[in-house]
Amino acid sequence: MPELKPSHLNERLARRDLAAIWHPCTQMKDHEWLPMIPIRSGSGVWLEDFAGHRYLDAISSWWVNLFGHANPRINAALRAQLERLEHVIFAGFTHEPAIELAESLMRVAPAGLTKCFFADNGSAAVEVAIKMSFHYWRNVGRTTKTRFVTLSGSYHGETLGALAVGNVELYRDIYRPLLMDVLTAPSPDCYSCEPGESWEAHSLGKLRDLEKLLERHAREIAGVIVEPLVQCAAGMRMYHPGYLKGLRTLCDRFEVHLIADEIAVGFGRTGTMFACEQENVSPDFLCVAKSLTGGYMPLAATLATERIYKAFLGRYDEFKTFFHGHTYTANPLACAVALANLELYKKEGLLKNVRDRAEELRRGLETLSSHPHVKEIRQVGLMVGIELVQNRRTGKPFDPERRMGLKVCDEAIRRGVWLRPLADVVVLMPPLAITKKELAFLIDVVRNSVILALG
Ligand code: PMP
Repeated sequence: MPELKPSHLNERLARRDLAAIWHPCTQMKDHEWLPMIPIRSGSGVWLEDFAGHRYLDAISSWWVNLFGHANPRINAALRAQLERLEHVIFAGFTHEPAIELAESLMRVAPAGLTKCFFADNGSAAVEVAIKMSFHYWRNVGRTTKTRFVTLSGSYHGETLGALAVGNVELYRDIYRPLLMDVLTAPSPDCYSCEPGESWEAHSLGKLRDLEKLLERHAREIAGVIVEPLVQCAAGMRMYHPGYLKGLRTLCDRFEVHLIADEIAVGFGRTGTMFACEQENVSPDFLCVAKSLTGGYMPLAATLATERIYKAFLGRYDEFKTFFHGHTYTANPLACAVALANLELYKKEGLLKNVRDRAEELRRGLETLSSHPHVKEIRQVGLMVGIELVQNRRTGKPFDPERRMGLKVCDEAIRRGVWLRPLADVVVLMPPLAITKKELAFLIDVVRNSVILALG
């Protein structure tokens, strides 16, 4: 048989894929005109397809990658663990990678979190936190505390519990009849700041609404769940860190748990290891996943305080046990990779790179901020949302049918940058180890793509 040309390999794999696979969060009909791109390999910030085209992975493979693809140290850690133990049941048995990882995580996490419960994806980590919070109140005899408060525009995952405590209509609305009832407080998101109003004043102002809600309902409320600093799935909506401090005070005053979902913002994306650190806030639960393994393997953890943990201790027949577990809990390969990832932070000064590159990114995108169809460029650390609108003055959005966000990303991919929009928000979230030169390339392509797509 004659050898297939590389570009034919791309096409053939794409055809086989579309015949057999249903992709996540994708209108599969779009692939009648939008090419599916089979990726053959990754190295650093670059992905390569079967025709040898290279793409800068500007969204860190769905917000997970930190040190680049095929990192030699992480690869070595994975290989070494593979020689020892690939998996073992995590009830009754334990293993060193999980123990070391739990200890390491607690060393870098906000103070007061002393127990680590493993799961295998972000939604599961959120399910664990809400079930634990609810169950805690039962175990201490406060049985009226059964409800959760969410912020408008928040997102916490796809499984039914996580979806219920989220608030992005696009993901949630259709499933509403399946979801538990939650209370919703207005988001501190600063997109709706009045002219002249500071981010701080806007965000802190929203604490008053939450306070009123807690005044009315604290007796029924188990916890408040938030995405610290950035509501990512809502379109990289951002708020002032002061909100977190005020939220902590309110949660203490009204005796409700603070659940921090740092699944997207954790591990340095915002410039600090965890976003909560920026206001010295310690939540009662911290959910982490995504970048926990530097973008290598599915692994998640819910960290909890000693007080919460202790409320679950008792005789078996008191039924205080947390009866929740996933088969691949604390998979040793994933734990070994996560440990190598955390080690690399220390060695490679990643947070300094984030701060330096973030400044370059801010300056590099500045020229776009006066574009007639760019309403706002918002940024925290190496997380950016470029909001495209029909009318910059009134903020009138584009007709969704025009798929303007997708058009910009389509221009970018032709120029070697892989982006994925959130509706008409162009999202940039590159691997945190991106170099100055790679970032300059990314900025250049994004600028040109916005101008070409929007005119
Ligand atoms: N919480 C947040 C803030 C997220 O961004 C996500 C994923 N986008 C999740 C939870 C769910 O994580 P997973 O996709 O691993 O279930």
